[in-house]
Amino acid sequence: MRQLVEVKLKSKFITDIKNGYPLLSKEAVETSGVTMDEGSLLRLVDPSGRYIGTAYYGLQNKGIGWVLAFKEQEKIDAKFFVKKISAAVARRKNLYEAEDTTAFRVFNGEGDGIGGLIIDFFDGFYMVSWYSEGIYSFRDDIYQALEEVVEARGLYEKLRFNTNGQYVEQDDYVSGEKGEFPLIVLENGMKYAVDLNDGAMTGIFLDQRNVRKALRDHYAKEKTVLNTFSYTGAFSVAAVLGGATKTTSVDVAKRSLPKTIEQFAVNEIDYEAQDIKVMDVFDYFRYADRHDLKFDVVVLDPPSFARTKKITFSTAKDYPKLLKDTLKITNQGGIIIASTNNASFNMKKFKSFIDKAFTESNTRYKILEEHQLPEDFTVPHNYPEFNYLKVVFIKVMN
Ligand code: SAH
Repeated sequence: MRQLVEVKLKSKFITDIKNGYPLLSKEAVETSGVTMDEGSLLRLVDPSGRYIGTAYYGLQNKGIGWVLAFKEQEKIDAKFFVKKISAAVARRKNLYEAEDTTAFRVFNGEGDGIGGLIIDFFDGFYMVSWYSEGIYSFRDDIYQALEEVVEARGLYEKLRFNTNGQYVEQDDYVSGEKGEFPLIVLENGMKYAVDLNDGAMTGIFLDQRNVRKALRDHYAKEKTVLNTFSYTGAFSVAAVLGGATKTTSVDVAKRSLPKTIEQFAVNEIDYEAQDIKVMDVFDYFRYADRHDLKFDVVVLDPPSFARTKKITFSTAKDYPKLLKDTLKITNQGGIIIASTNNASFNMKKFKSFIDKAFTESNTRYKILEEHQLPEDFTVPHNYPEFNYLKVVFIKVMN
């Protein structure tokens, strides 16, 4: 039997929880001395003991659990999960029907009512990511619900928890058809090779879909494009398909080379006409500056934190510096596509980093476009802090 624990919340956290703030933080809990296990259901009450909501206990670096329901009678069972998943599927009707897009997010954790649970769609396959042991303890009910709501070709999963929050290396196949990887998915008509059984990542970050499209449709034609922190080169593919004269992809990971060649190849792009550099981006900046290389468009999409032999980099601290380095190798009139997925600061703060970098470089700029998470990456209403993606298209004036 699943444990049910009564948990008293501190009064200053009550309003937010009632308003739909889904994350339960350690600080919000008044109760002490009770043990909560991964997957325990929590009956949340206010300081006078009145019921507020039902949550589950699951440790993530963000918090200790997630609110699931606001009705005391609501049972957290397969039926509950059917309700949540079918609502999420219905919300993505347009994407399911789009013929030129076959990869998108079906269930976005807290935005769809169950924090810690992510479900992505890849051409008929579903990939479920579990972010805590707590949510994983509902696995049987959730798979039962998923199979009731959708017709999956096959299921894959990622366990994104263990004692130190690292990804668990395992065979990710669950049931149904076994995929033949790379699987080719479509995104606004572009092809991307994905592998659902190859470590923590699949080859594509689905949240950048609208940004790739904007790059292809409005910024790439007859331009030279530098794609930094390029991973499998997804932005480079979009640039070439949008008519870029040449792309340069830079990533320090050795695997980025064959993966980027593969992304070009599945789109019938001659990869030999493109530059792919396995290199530290910070070394590349120096190299490009020394050789007077300049680009019309630069994509900047660093990880929130990076550590190499020489440097540690954090977007919260070092983004202005990164932009200043980028400015040195961007043509006047060029475009910098600045992106970050660091949830610890918001769009306003991100724009202040941009302003700082340009001001300190004595360069004027104009913001042409802004993007946050696309429509399938649902976020809780009232709480934009869950909308972690921030992308700004900046025109370099003079
Ligand atoms: N922009 C990519 C995703 C980037 S993921 C896309 O849209 O698909 C972050 C990438 O940064 C990883 O592939 C990682 O290998 C790379 N990376 C991290 N530190 C780096 C560094 N110092 N220099 C170059 N690449 C780095």
